[in-house]
Amino acid sequence: MSGTIAEPIDIAIVGAGAVGLAAALALGREGHSVALLGPVATPRDGRTVALLDGSWRFLEELGLQGALTEKSAPLAVMRLVDDSGSLFRQPPVEFRASEIGLEAFGWNIENADLTAILAEKAAELPGVRMIPGFVRSIEPEAAGIRLAGDGFTPLIARLVVGADGRNSQVRAAAGIEAREWRYPQVALTAIFEHTRDHRETSTEFHTRQGPCTIVPLPGRRSSLVWLLEPEQAEAVAGLDDATFARRVETQVQSLLGALTVTGPRGKIPMGGLSVERFGAGRMALVGEAAHVFPPIGAQGLNLGLRDVATLSEAIAGASDPGSEGVIADYDRARQADVRLRTGAVDMLNRTLLTDLLPADLLRGAGLLALSRIGPLRRLVMRQGLAGGAAG
Ligand SMILES: Cc1cc2nc3c(=O)[nH]c(=O)nc-3n(C[C@H](O)[C@H](O)[C@H](O)COP(=O)(O)OP(=O)(O)OC[C@H]3O[C@@H](n4cnc5c(N)ncnc54)[C@H](O)[C@@H]3O)c2cc1C
Repeated sequence: MSGTIAEPIDIAIVGAGAVGLAAALALGREGHSVALLGPVATPRDGRTVALLDGSWRFLEELGLQGALTEKSAPLAVMRLVDDSGSLFRQPPVEFRASEIGLEAFGWNIENADLTAILAEKAAELPGVRMIPGFVRSIEPEAAGIRLAGDGFTPLIARLVVGADGRNSQVRAAAGIEAREWRYPQVALTAIFEHTRDHRETSTEFHTRQGPCTIVPLPGRRSSLVWLLEPEQAEAVAGLDDATFARRVETQVQSLLGALTVTGPRGKIPMGGLSVERFGAGRMALVGEAAHVFPPIGAQGLNLGLRDVATLSEAIAGASDPGSEGVIADYDRARQADVRLRTGAVDMLNRTLLTDLLPADLLRGAGLLALSRIGPLRRLVMRQGLAGGAAG
């Protein structure tokens, strides 16, 4: 296609995953002209996300609470079980949301349901134009950034938001360096029906290969995220549904009774990514375009929603949403939060992967301290939740 829309629009968001959709909702309701570029995909692969308290309140502000409540389960209790076989193994540690005055730490929902709900709401906003084509070129021009791609007339935007995931093209176009690393782990995901109640409790078994976590869904259903060494992950993933369910039942010590797999399962290699800056030259990065880490402590998407909330604050009141001032404010505001959480998740994951005594001792001592010292427990619970968008 040729020709370019004459008038620059305020904001173009590249990528219609959960974070891009949330950005379209947050920025579109502020009265900016917004184009959201990319197909909305809602494949079911057993993956769920725990939306922590701050994210929940942020999505509530965007008018989504009713639809989300129907599809999600509250997480009232979080239990950590040291299943590492370490010499310094500690008894399970339980955290109750009520200890910090909350009804729940968060709400767990299927990724596909969350994306579908966000997409439906975004389509209703008059200021948001949803364009399902992939973006193929991103070029800075005098008036803004020119975007061209599949099946749409090229457009110019004063701000481009990169919500295009870990292989972000926006990040490359902005010249932002990313550091990437891999973990010797693959995450297996699945959704189960079970014979016992989950009692709104999420349980994380810390094994030598990584955490194995079961998280409540509405009814007698829960989701699984199980990190395993690649070879073992291949073997377990290759089991038929019934054998897989029995294998998981043993792994989670029959906590939920007999398990039945419902729906497709997923298999995701684990890696991490961090960026030196969160924006440059009229472009800002949100979600996995800016940070990737393993699913430990439910941080990834929550941090992405916090990116969106912070970007929306940085833009509020600015006459040019892509100005150097907006980008610099956004970058400054995200540096500490994202680095802290990337470092903490990485450290916890690596202490599990090693059987070195000092790391085991530290993790054991940490769990022991968490189980005994009230103020420390409350501090850790609040810090964990601070990854949520409004937290
Ligand atoms: C097993 C597992 C469990 C997890 N559990 C949790 C949890 O409990 N809590 C939590 O907070 N996080 C969790 N996460 C992390 C969370 O899933 C991710 O942080 C989140 O899904 C990332 O969303 P995103 O929108 O940034 O990226 P993506 O979902 O990758 O979306 C990027 C989108 O951009 C599109 N795109 C890419 N390039 C282009 C282009 N050129 N043009 C147009 N579109 C483009 C893609 O098609 C895609 O739709 C988990 C992750 C895993 C792997």
